[in-house]
Amino acid sequence: MKREQLAFCLVFLSFIGANQLARAADPAHPDQPTVSPAEAISRLKEGNGRFTAGNPQHPHESVDDRKYMAANSYENAATISLGMTTEQAAKRRAELGKSQHPFAIILSCSDSRVPPEIVFDEGLGDLFIVRVAGNVLNDEGLGSIEYGVDVLGARLIVVLGHQSCGAVDAAMKTIAAKGKAPGHIQSLVTAIKPVVDSTPKGDLDTTIKANVKHVVDALRSSTPILKARVDSGEVQVIGGYYALDTGAVTFLEAK
Ligand SMILES: [Zn+2]
Repeated sequence: MKREQLAFCLVFLSFIGANQLARAADPAHPDQPTVSPAEAISRLKEGNGRFTAGNPQHPHESVDDRKYMAANSYENAATISLGMTTEQAAKRRAELGKSQHPFAIILSCSDSRVPPEIVFDEGLGDLFIVRVAGNVLNDEGLGSIEYGVDVLGARLIVVLGHQSCGAVDAAMKTIAAKGKAPGHIQSLVTAIKPVVDSTPKGDLDTTIKANVKHVVDALRSSTPILKARVDSGEVQVIGGYYALDTGAVTFLEAK
């Protein structure tokens, strides 16, 4: 067995094993695995490590990887999509067709350079994601996040900002010029304005991180669903900063 094949098998087995452990730990909800916030952070860090190392485990991300697998024991290149055998991939899709148990919720910017599944090297069914420019929080986004927690059982929420965020930059420039952004883009400026106002001497990077913290604080104090669960430790909300230069995600202060 080649090294890559062994790695795929180990990942699949660890996935199954983690699910069984989680189910055993939550007898009241046998169909709902619970992944602790610490475990979820650990998985995201490991995935981002694979991504930054140029060694992601989702081989459908490049033509070369697909060709390699097709030539190395996978039955049919056209059906390869998850870094698993055809049989394993079908089983995973069948599981997800019945239910989903994402282990983390990500609120991230819409920026095309920061797709969470890719930068955290995760696959189908792993992450419940809300994306909006500037990773701002609106009612629909909050409702989606609450759904991820209350219905789907995710216990980690990550607010992911990033280097050179155009939404934050536009907000800073529009506010400095006492202007108004065109169309509905102004709604992003309005959402980010409290952060810009509270960091008057901040450069773009400082303001981006302040914006992440602002949204993290809003989620932690959000009633009626999130605050109680954050206070009890059941749910954790943390900020993250993605560096375009390196591909690395730095997790900001945890609570
Ligand atoms: Zn952005």
